[in-house]
Amino acid sequence: MSLLNFLISKSIMHIPGPLVGIFAKSYIAGPELNDAVRVTKELNSQGIMTTIDILGEFIKNLDEAEYYRERCIEILDTIKKEGLDANLSLKPTQMGLNLNKEVAFNNILKIVDHAKQLGNFVRIDMEDVTCTNDTIDFYRSLRGKYQGHVGVVLQAYLRRTPKDVENLSDGPMNFRLCKGIYNEKRVHAYKDPYIINQSFIYILEKMFQKGAYVGIATHDEKLVFEATRLIEKYGLTRDKYEFQMLLGVDEELRRIIVNSGHRLRVYVPFGKDWLPYSRRRLKENPNIARHALRQLFGI
Ligand code: FAD
Repeated sequence: MSLLNFLISKSIMHIPGPLVGIFAKSYIAGPELNDAVRVTKELNSQGIMTTIDILGEFIKNLDEAEYYRERCIEILDTIKKEGLDANLSLKPTQMGLNLNKEVAFNNILKIVDHAKQLGNFVRIDMEDVTCTNDTIDFYRSLRGKYQGHVGVVLQAYLRRTPKDVENLSDGPMNFRLCKGIYNEKRVHAYKDPYIINQSFIYILEKMFQKGAYVGIATHDEKLVFEATRLIEKYGLTRDKYEFQMLLGVDEELRRIIVNSGHRLRVYVPFGKDWLPYSRRRLKENPNIARHALRQLFGI
């Protein structure tokens, strides 16, 4: 870790909100659902799909879970009403996973069922390792009845992921593959960036071999390059995969991917709960602050 990254990571909880806001601004659509709709319309007009996410996770009581469940249903209804090329991403702890597993599952079930009625799709994000087993269980329970309407995220940094792909290959599979953002112990996750990249490529190939639909979520051009080689190797048509990127990150790479004829989806978070989310993200990945500082000061 560079000195700048180390300092950012150590001091992030003490950096004043307005300053974090400077870093966070380009990564979040705004406080309201209307902001996510506006950003989605802009991206759709460039031939880019989105997945909309309402900020909020690791909630404190189940009333909050109910609130987020209803907001997710509102997002799906709004996507339909506005005719957007967008789907929904949600976090299991936003639905109450850290409080009551059964309630969380039923909340997600209700949302996925609603998405199916509207012909849309829900991506279940993957959080830290305390959530991995339950999140995969949820997906396993839903994917049969809701095939084509639900998918899950798997993280390339986790040592267990190739096994998870193997175990899930007895049914329909719709994955987002990403490196993983949480600060996990070495016993669970690879720490070396080279190994994480090797793991990403290994898992992606395994997913393609098993016939999974994959959202290839990365801004790492080395991985985009390897992914396009695998897409070619397996002769995959455009409808069998998509690239995915976060809002505000490397718009040039975004254009390169779209102009090469691939489908691309941008993750569009919105909501008032942006400060804790942004602090966590900056702590987990100080590179975000480095990029924002570079943009601000040209360093
Ligand atoms: P990195 O090595 O981090 O970055 C590669 C290059 O991308 C960098 O060198 C830099 O040039 C550029 N870059 C990266 N980040 C930024 C930035 N913020 N601003 C400007 N340039 C940047 N993680 C989870 O654990 N669970 C999830 O459910 C999850 N969902 C995700 C959904 C999407 C659509 C995406 C794109 C990521 C998601 N992530 C999730 C985060 C992911 O795990 C990585 O932490 C994140 O994408 C950074 O990894 P990278 O592959 O871009 O590689």
